[in-house]
Amino acid sequence: MTSTPLVLASGNAGKLREFHQLLAPLGFDVRPQAEYDVPDVEETGLTFVENALLKAREASRISGWPALADDSGLEVDALNGAPGIYSARFAGEPKSDARNNARLLERLEGVPEGQRSGRYWCLLVYLRHAEDPVPLIVQRSWEGEILTHPRGEGGFGYDSLFWLPDQAMSAAELPPEEKNRLSHRGRALQALVGALGGCQET
Ligand code: IMP
Repeated sequence: MTSTPLVLASGNAGKLREFHQLLAPLGFDVRPQAEYDVPDVEETGLTFVENALLKAREASRISGWPALADDSGLEVDALNGAPGIYSARFAGEPKSDARNNARLLERLEGVPEGQRSGRYWCLLVYLRHAEDPVPLIVQRSWEGEILTHPRGEGGFGYDSLFWLPDQAMSAAELPPEEKNRLSHRGRALQALVGALGGCQET
């Protein structure tokens, strides 16, 4: 089977590996955008979908191949959706998970249990070409509550503050395979694989 190059609009080696494993069986050869000298675009959108589209379009425009981009973050109800698209840099530059978590706790000080609901979002955009008028878009969320103190050592980002009532543990305490199965990112990826598999059949 000949494979079609698919450019991943990210420089993250972990994401590249994960997307490659899932998409190679569908006939896609997932390649990092650095291979085509695609620069990081300025994420000027106000929503996850806008930012993912900007990244995917630039990667496809410069490489000339189909492109895939993701954008993700944490939405907290008591903060009107913050940190949202600003999740990676909630506490400013340079990016720091520790400072972001401290800022989140500070902003939620005094907010009682039961009013600390939130969710992670993962949004994926696939473009067949840079002018594709019908991008394939999937978004999945993962519900949780924001703890008052960190728990667990695994994961990254806000995971040690993200409580999962059904599992009775934080996302940082979940085994990695379990996180991949349940998380916003894991489920968005599965949905994308299903949708792309359907596209390949037609
Ligand atoms: P990006 O989409 O990789 O830029 O991630 C945006 C930011 O959202 C990350 O830097 C984290 O702060 C947060 N985030 C997204 N997904 C997760 C997750 O699974 N666990 C913890 N934090 C996450």
